[in-house]
Amino acid sequence: MTDSTNFSVRSTAALKNGEVRANFRRAMDGLMAKRAAVFADPAEWQALRALGASIKARALARLPALLVRLEERCRANGIAVHWAENAAEANELVLSLLRAHGATRLVKGKSMVSEEMGLNEFLEEHGVESLESDLGEYVIQLDHETPSHIIMPAIHKNRRQIARLFGEKIRNAEYTEDVDALTAIARRVLRKKFEEADAGLSGVNFAVAETGTLVLVENEGNGRMSTHVPPLHVAVMGIEKVVERLEDVPPLLSLLTRSATGQIVTTYVNMISGPRAPDEKDGPREVHLVILDNGRSRIFQDPELAATLRCIRCGACMNHCPVYTRVGGHAYEAVTPGPIGKVLNPQMEGLAARRELPHASSLCGACVEVCPVEIPITELLVRLRGEAAHASPGSTVLQAGEALDPAEDRAWAIWRWVFGSPSHYRLASRLLTRLRFVPRPRVGPLRAWTSVRTAPRPAPRSLHELAKERGVPDA
Ligand code: SF4
Repeated sequence: MTDSTNFSVRSTAALKNGEVRANFRRAMDGLMAKRAAVFADPAEWQALRALGASIKARALARLPALLVRLEERCRANGIAVHWAENAAEANELVLSLLRAHGATRLVKGKSMVSEEMGLNEFLEEHGVESLESDLGEYVIQLDHETPSHIIMPAIHKNRRQIARLFGEKIRNAEYTEDVDALTAIARRVLRKKFEEADAGLSGVNFAVAETGTLVLVENEGNGRMSTHVPPLHVAVMGIEKVVERLEDVPPLLSLLTRSATGQIVTTYVNMISGPRAPDEKDGPREVHLVILDNGRSRIFQDPELAATLRCIRCGACMNHCPVYTRVGGHAYEAVTPGPIGKVLNPQMEGLAARRELPHASSLCGACVEVCPVEIPITELLVRLRGEAAHASPGSTVLQAGEALDPAEDRAWAIWRWVFGSPSHYRLASRLLTRLRFVPRPRVGPLRAWTSVRTAPRPAPRSLHELAKERGVPDA
């Protein structure tokens, strides 16, 4: 369970770290500009995102049936399908598949679900070398870190930091700050690992129920190498990745790549529909799909919060969030940081365990404006704030009503009393005008606000008093 003060502590530390702030500022400014350029036509953007939202909403409306269909079609294609209730089960499943094939060396394409499972650590504990082959993931694995962004996991590092890291951790790597040379060093190491690997593991961007196809997008070719070079390919996905038809994929791909990196299309779009056929010269001899629930079916039960599952993990909400872009991804200490993480993690791990996250937002709505599948993130955050304090009737939210902050509850009780009747309101405003010279607080719960802002001083006379003096009739 996460200490409830941790987000405050970590975000404060991040704000004081000039290098982290500069790295994020530079990267996010670039990503925002690229996204704006590829969505320059507002009418096209609105039409496409409405289509994307409707595709995901349609898939969610039929989620159980589509998952059954996906399993049938995958099996018909020769892909073995496995179901995991939680991360521990998924890890055991992957390990048993590797053991059944005598595999001790695994190369991984990028997969946020495997991060959610803590797969690398689990496999290392059980004697399996699990190597990240996405360049950003490889960098943070070398430095024993977690991703700070869902699309660009090492975005918090600049090239000097990566140069130092490669110089320290990679044998025979000369120190260089040249980006191409750094990439070449990583490629040299990874090429050899691809050749030696007994198995490859990948995530899934979209799984097509109609055809049993696993769609995977990437820019580096490592995803293709991980899924095609080793004899065994294991794909892991959350239940929400299923879409109904093949024709649903192109609009979602367009929204995903443009929102994520400002690319019209990624360098590679892999569509995996089964293992190597007898007359084919390459490809894995076996393909397995592990479908993970891990709390998603609970989220699915709530008609409002189920919108969380529409997320296509583009990261645009992070790139535009005024909180995320300043404190960075590690402050959240979560696999999914930023706005969607503030909605997703409390639902998956519990509101008491993640009590600070729904509050770590100004509700400015920048995330909602750029979300390509129209997830009403701010509305969901407000809903979760309410659920944290008082569970709604029939609530299925984990730890609903268990994160009540007594001070906040008292503050809202006072607010209700003041605004609940005209006489209370008048009394309170009169009292405030009389107390206007009381020193503004430098300590206590208002400190976080007043340390960076000047606390407002009440006017000498309330509006009602002034109106009364001028003979304005009371409403
Ligand atoms: S919530 Fe929307 S903007 Fe954020 S990652 Fe998901 S799809 Fe992208």
